[in-house]
Amino acid sequence: MFKISLRKLIKKEGRALLEQLQNTFELTISIHDVNGDVLFAKGNPALEHRHLVAVEDKTIGWVCGENHVETIVSLLNFLAKQELEKKQLGYEVLEGYREMSLILNMANKLSPCIDLEAIANLTIQEATKLIPATSAAVLLLDSETGLLKTIAASGDAFTLETTVALGEGIIGSVTQNGTADIINEVASDPRNTFPHNTLHKGQITGVSSMICVSLCTDDRPIGAIAIAHDTPIFYSARDLKLLTRIASPVAPAIGNTLLHAELYAVQAEYLQKLEIEVAERTKELRQEIYERHRAEASLQDANQKLQQLADLDGLTNVANRRRFDEYLLDEWDRAGRDRKPLSLIMCDVDYFKKYNDTYGHQGGDDCLRKVAQAMNQSAKRPADMVFRYGGEEFAVLLPSTDMDGAMTVANQIRDSVKALQIEHEASLVSKYISVSLGVASMVPIIDAAPTILVTIADQALYQAKNDGRDRIYAIG
Ligand code: GH3
Ligand code: MG
Ligand code: MG
Repeated sequence: MFKISLRKLIKKEGRALLEQLQNTFELTISIHDVNGDVLFAKGNPALEHRHLVAVEDKTIGWVCGENHVETIVSLLNFLAKQELEKKQLGYEVLEGYREMSLILNMANKLSPCIDLEAIANLTIQEATKLIPATSAAVLLLDSETGLLKTIAASGDAFTLETTVALGEGIIGSVTQNGTADIINEVASDPRNTFPHNTLHKGQITGVSSMICVSLCTDDRPIGAIAIAHDTPIFYSARDLKLLTRIASPVAPAIGNTLLHAELYAVQAEYLQKLEIEVAERTKELRQEIYERHRAEASLQDANQKLQQLADLDGLTNVANRRRFDEYLLDEWDRAGRDRKPLSLIMCDVDYFKKYNDTYGHQGGDDCLRKVAQAMNQSAKRPADMVFRYGGEEFAVLLPSTDMDGAMTVANQIRDSVKALQIEHEASLVSKYISVSLGVASMVPIIDAAPTILVTIADQALYQAKNDGRDRIYAIG
């Protein structure tokens, strides 16, 4: 492989040595290259006896001389051998450097690739730049199915549909064995035969020469790179070495990508589970909130009903005395602030003791219910309110109503109770149930208690009773 020139050898380092030997031993020699050209001569030696100078069985010249010729030949042989070794070492260092830079370059190009297809396409691109090929493919092993699937292909020999089982065909065998192989007669390779009815399209056709290199991580086969030529170009060991070097950073890159994909899948599954859990919890929380709202609403409803019950008189269903005290206080303050009149009618059923005595207590209760209803219908404005003040006595509070308005309401009450025509044969004023009414009306005096209004209305009622009952008396 390496050519050693005797001429260069003598020129470079042999001449000085030869001169030294010549001075010591007074040599008579001539040294010739393979063409017979004289490279060194002292004296006139006979030329019949040639002593060959050779390196690795290859003659590079000869020596003619009379004394110490063997020493000279040994010296030249040694120098030639040394020169050859130097060249070989230099070549190996250079090759090593080339290989390293090839791997480094490939690794650099692979680093931005984030998916398997990109890695596979780059591998094909780089391999076919350096090695002659008409087709190329990168196949990856699907560990679940045991099938090698093509993830990148160029040329006619391989397509993305090319699939081969591990151990089957050339590619399947090379992958399974974790080897790298040159196949220079693809058609006649015994591995390239498949059962006639094979499901896999692994048989390689239209290809003469091929190199197949397995891809392994942690000594496990993960796929293969195949480079092929449609004419018999006879790939060399150097081509195989090149492809092996290109493949060396590809396998870890694919391994990393697969690991990332696996991690990503685990992460995605975890996130999906988490999302489902969150959705379920959200649904539960919504349901809880809905139920709480419903419970709150029904509680509010119950409270309202309770409040209404607390405010109502159980017998007549009009507001009770407790509510009267509250309402009077509120309306008294409001009327005082707004400088508006507030009127109060106190209404008492006439001779009701006699009614009870005549018609029984139950009859008395019925009568009170009817009277209350009639009074309620007479107090028409939203703010007007009828209360059972106690026993057979009722109060009607009329906000923003002056004496004229209060008198109108009082007359309506008197008339509507009368119109009920509840028989009262024991009454001394009418043959029907009647009422006496005391009316008071005033604009509240600041800082005065509302009891003043009640007192005046009471006095008016007392007056109405005194005047003979079944009538209205007003003060204010
Ligand atoms: P006056 O015309 O002066 O008002 O005479 P009166 O009989 O109506 O007045 P008095 O105060 O003497 O009697 C009131 C009666 O009302 C006494 C009581 O038996 C009766 N009474 C009070 N509360 C109720 C009640 O809730 N139901 C019934 N049935 N009667 C009641
Ligand atoms: Mg009475
Ligand atoms: Mg009374």
